[in-house]
Amino acid sequence: MRVVCISDTHGMHRRMDHLIPDGDLLLHAGDVTKNGKIEDLAAVEAFFREQPHPHKVFTPGNHDWIFQDEPVKACEMVPSAICLIDQGIEIEGVKIWGSPWQPEFHNWAFNLPPGEALAEKWRLIPPDTDILLTHTPPADILDRCKNGEHKGCRDLAARLREISPLLNVFGHIHEAYGQETHGNTKFVNASICNLGYRPVNPPIVVDLAE
Ligand SMILES: [Zn+2]
Repeated sequence: MRVVCISDTHGMHRRMDHLIPDGDLLLHAGDVTKNGKIEDLAAVEAFFREQPHPHKVFTPGNHDWIFQDEPVKACEMVPSAICLIDQGIEIEGVKIWGSPWQPEFHNWAFNLPPGEALAEKWRLIPPDTDILLTHTPPADILDRCKNGEHKGCRDLAARLREISPLLNVFGHIHEAYGQETHGNTKFVNASICNLGYRPVNPPIVVDLAE
């Protein structure tokens, strides 16, 4: 299965420097809207509708307020992609789980305090998950901010050690774009936008073994 990973497009789908490669599955790890408002969803739907991938899945991010305020309505307004908010789906035998939460970060959507509140969300991830789609990185993996601080989620890192999925795709920390492998898991920070909110990074393609 060819998985095409993007994140943090912030509504700039028509201004991306790089084309989105074709594949079996398009994953978007959140911050999909321009301003997190209901008016932004028509553009999000148009973007997903235009993509050739047979399967398209996303989870919202901390800018995507409308998905926190009115999750059912917001997801219904993007029918061309599957919106996962602490939910899973199986596609061609591959089990995918999506979750938008991240450690508190100013006053944004899908914020939770580190510790029990976040750990409770991560415990919902089934142990047999193949692809985990989160907005936040786990702590210490592709989560280094410009100021040198690691802002990923420690509770997510702990859960990942328990379940070892094949792939964890996220974004959130734009300047930590890239990919790394640790143990059985490939980690992808697929932020399309850079720190200055310019959509300059190419999508990251991952081929999962059959
Ligand atoms: Zn972002």
